[in-house]
Amino acid sequence: MKFRTFIVGCALALTLLLFAQRHEPSVQPSGFRAVVDLTHAINPQIPTYEPTDKPAYQARTVATLEKDGYFARDISLPEHFGTHLDAPAHFARGMWTVDQIPPERLVAPLVVIDVTANPKSNPDYQVAVEDVAKWEQAHGQIPENAVVIANTGWESRWNSPRDYRNADTKGVMHFPGYSLEAAKFLVEGRYVLGLGIDTLSIDYGLSQDFPVHHYTLSRSVYHLENVANVEHAPAAGGMVVVSPMKLEGGSGSPVRIFALTR
Ligand SMILES: [Zn+2]
Repeated sequence: MKFRTFIVGCALALTLLLFAQRHEPSVQPSGFRAVVDLTHAINPQIPTYEPTDKPAYQARTVATLEKDGYFARDISLPEHFGTHLDAPAHFARGMWTVDQIPPERLVAPLVVIDVTANPKSNPDYQVAVEDVAKWEQAHGQIPENAVVIANTGWESRWNSPRDYRNADTKGVMHFPGYSLEAAKFLVEGRYVLGLGIDTLSIDYGLSQDFPVHHYTLSRSVYHLENVANVEHAPAAGGMVVVSPMKLEGGSGSPVRIFALTR
């Protein structure tokens, strides 16, 4: 019996060895070369659109390994917090809430438009149709049903909520967003599924009436705000996986976003 166990053990070890040799760690099972996490970690210090006296995010430990044998927390946070998704219902009556967005709209070709040169001298910069044209000159026409994310360079301010909100003495914020013209071109001319940006809002900080929010969300195009690591995402040829919490009736949700590089 002992001898048989020994033989079986040897056979298993040999199988493991053979499989281990066949394993190629540099290739993802999906065929993609790399996965870039486009998500900021959530903690109480991160910047918020509205300034708050106490942190908008609370995490309270309700069980510990020492006392209860397991670790768990209760959390509370706004739907639009950290890297998050605006569902069409956020601004448009009768449109999809976050749980209703069809999943096939959450996995899409990814387009990253670099506009980093402009906000350095003009924090009120709005992504222009010319920026889209420049991307297309370099990479060809934006594929239909893509998610477009603007890299404005604003992410470098993320660790300072004051610099990231960039409010003036009157409390008016100054950070880049999309122009309505660019949004219209991307929605009507390129049929995008979602628009993303590495700032607090798709509409620039100065905006009081949020024209891009009204325009895109009423056309079922969702938003991704406070996107992270955009400089590491592929400009063209990648895919994006957008994974919000499935909050029934939600206006939006914190979201995990992955860029897949070919
Ligand atoms: Zn928004």
